[in-house]
Amino acid sequence: MSARFSPAACARLVVKIGSSLLVGSDGQVRRDWLASVLDDIAIRRAAGQQVVIVSSGAIALGARRLKLPKGGRASLEDAQAAAACGQIVLARTYAELLGGHGIEAAQILLTLGDLEDRRRYLNVAATLDRLLSLGAVPVLNENDSVATAEIRFGDNDRLAARAGQAAGANAVVLLSDIDGLYSGNPSRDPSAVLIPVVERLDVTIDAMADARSGSGLGSGGMAAKVQAARIAVQAGMHLAIADGRVDHPLARFDATSHGTVFVAEGGTSPRKSWLAGRLTVAGRLTIDAGAAKALKSGKSLLAAGVTTVSGKFARGDAVEIVTDGAVIARGLAGYDVPDATAIAGVRNDAQAAILGYAPRSAMIHRDHLVLL
Ligand code: GLU
Repeated sequence: MSARFSPAACARLVVKIGSSLLVGSDGQVRRDWLASVLDDIAIRRAAGQQVVIVSSGAIALGARRLKLPKGGRASLEDAQAAAACGQIVLARTYAELLGGHGIEAAQILLTLGDLEDRRRYLNVAATLDRLLSLGAVPVLNENDSVATAEIRFGDNDRLAARAGQAAGANAVVLLSDIDGLYSGNPSRDPSAVLIPVVERLDVTIDAMADARSGSGLGSGGMAAKVQAARIAVQAGMHLAIADGRVDHPLARFDATSHGTVFVAEGGTSPRKSWLAGRLTVAGRLTIDAGAAKALKSGKSLLAAGVTTVSGKFARGDAVEIVTDGAVIARGLAGYDVPDATAIAGVRNDAQAAILGYAPRSAMIHRDHLVLL
């Protein structure tokens, strides 16, 4: 499948490095291994490829230094303290090792809100673009010391996919402590086989993913990797899970293609793929079967087809669209909750009398709507 996707051939690549690879059992950075990854990246930089690194490891590194139990994950306060301590170690290590190749490392710490809010997302996108055009290698992590449970990505797999989208990347490689997605759980099921290529990410693939993380150090697990893959492919990026347990894992993946590649979908606009990849919504519109049919044929969502409005949203916020209990689409609301509620189920020509102003053409315009 290397004919389809070679990470070496992308103009912009995101490489995610998991905690269990980066931090040894002694609680220190596995420096020789990391140096081998950064050697691979330096070769790519020299060949003109722009690379963004998403690095985990802050919590694991900080936990050992602060002598915290359970790898720093016993409580939110512990994780936040550990991250603050470990992040500075991570940053120093990347600056030193990339500096050895004459490459500037540039750190960005992100919370979920930074990529969910459209304006902040565009801001992050502009910063990444500038850093890459200046030849730097951005090193990203979640801002674990300030992010609370409600505003966390929680795993760097999804962060890598969202950041890749913001960076306008062509592909994401997740270096992992497993060599790819298996048809079952390889530690329990001896007949489980590696899936080299996923062309269509459907429920059968979800069922293969197992929420357990191999090592217990990171928080990702296969379920998070598949969620990251969904965000990536919908945004037009390939996503590869590659074995990070070897030295020079990127060069090795290029040479062997051993791993799982989720193939990018085409044809979605950047704005729509941003919407599809969002992890949070502010409310929900339940719609009838007629409206669901219209949406599927590419039409806007009219208020007449909306049966229930719930949540707390303002015009422009992301909402999910539900029919028969299933979320079928996501869109940016054309109205605040009170007005949306007032005109739900009402035909366009009767809306002005209710609203007291000329209504918009739709509850959600098709340009602001994405089918899931
Ligand atoms: N952001 C966390 C850290 O730096 C890791 C999250 C993850 O395990 O994916 O330690």
